[in-house]
Amino acid sequence: MISEKMKPFLKNSSAIRMMFEEGTRLKALYGPENVFDFSLGNPSVPAPEAVKKAIIDLVNTEDPVVLHGYMSNAGFEDVRQTIAESLNRRFGTAFAARNLIMTVGAASGLNIILKAILNPGDEVIVFAPYFLEYGSYVRNYDGVLVEVAPDTATFQPNLKELAEKITAKTKAVIVNTPHNPTGVVYSEETIKALSAILEEKQKELGSVIYLISDEPYRELAYDGVEVPYLTKYYANTVVGYSYSKSLSLPGERIGYVVIPDEADGSAELIQAATIANRVSGSVNAPSLMQKVIARCVDEQTDVAAYDKNRQALYNGLTQIGFTCIKPQGAFYLFVKSPVPDEKAFVEAGKKYNILMVPGSSFACPGYVRLAYCVSYDTIINSLPQFKKLAAEFF
Ligand code: PLP
Repeated sequence: MISEKMKPFLKNSSAIRMMFEEGTRLKALYGPENVFDFSLGNPSVPAPEAVKKAIIDLVNTEDPVVLHGYMSNAGFEDVRQTIAESLNRRFGTAFAARNLIMTVGAASGLNIILKAILNPGDEVIVFAPYFLEYGSYVRNYDGVLVEVAPDTATFQPNLKELAEKITAKTKAVIVNTPHNPTGVVYSEETIKALSAILEEKQKELGSVIYLISDEPYRELAYDGVEVPYLTKYYANTVVGYSYSKSLSLPGERIGYVVIPDEADGSAELIQAATIANRVSGSVNAPSLMQKVIARCVDEQTDVAAYDKNRQALYNGLTQIGFTCIKPQGAFYLFVKSPVPDEKAFVEAGKKYNILMVPGSSFACPGYVRLAYCVSYDTIINSLPQFKKLAAEFF
């Protein structure tokens, strides 16, 4: 008999996953080239050649006892130092190895942060639309997720409502920029305003509110837009990073958490998050991948390929008559459904072999998410199908 806590998970098993399975079924039926699967954020750009070289070289040259062995629960010290130095070069920060904990992707990074800071009943604020797993992660530690309604004009965070929703129980606010599912990048002005609210509330309530910056899409930014590094604006910022998208390694499960010295109770928090890595069962991030990252720390994915997809899909869909904010980052378009019930629109899309994810999977009904991390041909060939789909609604 499974636990009460797991039962809701079984009921609400992820719509994105179900869509993925539907894609596999349709591809078997009609051929992969005739299915336009925009459902999953699985990078279409392969990992850089340097990653492959690093794996081969490490396996051939490193002492296997070290390479495949246990290490500190925070990860190899030299790897953390290498990443810290890379961040310092790029963002003018002053991190050292002690500020980083290697994690099993961003998912695990967020979990160890939340495990380290949450008492039962503590509140964590998120801005809709948001990556729905945040709710699962917060509930893992008996926290309470508090949603701020979307500002659908800009999809920048609704700061007025944030201020209203902060209470003495607020332990953290999660932000994600570049953003899944809208592709917006939070401007420096927004980050400054957000930081000012958190500072003021901390003073007023005499509490500590952590800002958790979930950044798997940091490197995927277009049009030369700057993605501000949040620790520079607000001392109690903790960063969760991942190489899933930036180096196309989602299955390898590698990322890190940054806890700056300036964060409240930093030394204890680092220790708690490191132990959380162990006691949550991850123990440490995959050892081979840690070493690969140290060698590929300044490698970049082919952002231009995603940008080409972004332009083609955005221009194609808006010319057909769809409404969508132009994304400046990540690899998603968040398109307004032509009918309020976006699930009906998603269903209709399946008739044309178009797979989309309903916005309600991101706590924002009335919209659909298209992941454009697909081949360019898929995008071009999907446009006549979108035209037929649009004809049913416009
Ligand atoms: N956060 C957001 C916003 C995501 O979109 C994802 C994955 O798609 C994750 C976290 C989890 O990433 P990872 O594969 O590093 O666990």
